[in-house]
Amino acid sequence: MTLKLRCVDYGFECKFMLDEEKSITQLEKLRDHFEEEHGIDYTIEAVTQMITNKGHSLESIKK
Ligand SMILES: [Zn+2]
Repeated sequence: MTLKLRCVDYGFECKFMLDEEKSITQLEKLRDHFEEEHGIDYTIEAVTQMITNKGHSLESIKK
């Protein structure tokens, strides 16, 4: 199952988007993007929370 993550959905004016297989790697890519492009060092837990707050179920990738 793929998950589409758009940076703009998380409050940035930014065209960055990830549309790929749902995985912890995908979350880490988004996290790295926030840090590298926007200078915000979120924890992976914070990013996970933001995505689940958008209504995406991430249960399948949680340990
Ligand atoms: Zn961005």
